[in-house]
Amino acid sequence: MPNTKQVKDYIRTIPDFPHAGIMFRDVTTLFLDPRGFRMAVDQLLHPYAGMRFDKVAGLEARGFIMGGAIAHQLSTGFVPIRKKGKLPGKTIEQSYKLEYGEATMELHEDSLQPGDKVLLVDDLLATGGTAEAGIKLIEKLGAEVIGCSFIIDLPDLGGRAKLEAMGQDVHVLCD
Ligand code: AMP
Repeated sequence: MPNTKQVKDYIRTIPDFPHAGIMFRDVTTLFLDPRGFRMAVDQLLHPYAGMRFDKVAGLEARGFIMGGAIAHQLSTGFVPIRKKGKLPGKTIEQSYKLEYGEATMELHEDSLQPGDKVLLVDDLLATGGTAEAGIKLIEKLGAEVIGCSFIIDLPDLGGRAKLEAMGQDVHVLCD
């Protein structure tokens, strides 16, 4: 039987996780399905076919799952951008605003070289604060973000507009 399911059909929404009022978009059900996972990886890469990247950077934590698969597909290395305190080597850091308070992301300072072309990936784009911090970290090392690829965009939260205002190419699979 032909598979007519789209990426969006594999994602489930869990209400009130991790807090009351949050509609959590759970991509573990997409990763669980072999056709769903493959479709997502292929579609995340589609606009960048034929382009040269030096590294794929993934945002903790679900960005690591697609990021690893995409890096393998592109035959590039993979760079994790992690929450503060998780990376063992010497890092640079970038703080960003959350709804309540602040968070900090880190990048190993020797993970990128000046001029490296980077594809940034994560599961979901909401306010864009996490991705913006990731882009700033990559740029601090003199590397360049060529594309930002996400499975889900929550357009009402303005992340895509924020990244496009920074001059970024933003690719999303569904809302
Ligand atoms: P933001 O920095 O506001 O764009 O938030 C994006 C980050 O938070 C991503 O790493 C997502 O995994 C996570 N996130 C934010 N909102 C949700 C949501 N409703 N469901 C699942 N993950 C979310």
